[in-house]
Amino acid sequence: MPSDGNEIEVLCPKCKVPMNFYSRTERSTKSGSVETKIVRYYRCPVCGRVIVDEELTIRIGPDGASIVNKHNGLSKSAIIVVKPVSRVG
Ligand SMILES: [Zn+2]
Repeated sequence: MPSDGNEIEVLCPKCKVPMNFYSRTERSTKSGSVETKIVRYYRCPVCGRVIVDEELTIRIGPDGASIVNKHNGLSKSAIIVVKPVSRVG
C-alpha cells in the first residue's frame, strides 16, 4: 500500500472509469494435496471487465509445499493513474 502521499487509481481501458478492487480465496483438494489460490483483481463497475493483478497459488502435498506467484497483469492491461493525495487540514 502506498503511504508516501500518492494514490493509485486503476481505470478501465474501455470505459476510463475507476475499477473496484477485490480479493478472492479459493481452496481445492486434489489427489492428496491441498491447493489455496488467492486472486487479487480489479473489476469495472460499468462493463464488468476483470483484470487480474496478482495470483498466488500455494500447494501443500505429500511431497512438500510449493508456491507459484503470478504478478503482472495490471501493468499490461489497465490504465494506472498515480496522483498525489492532497492533504486536508
Ligand atoms: Zn469498463
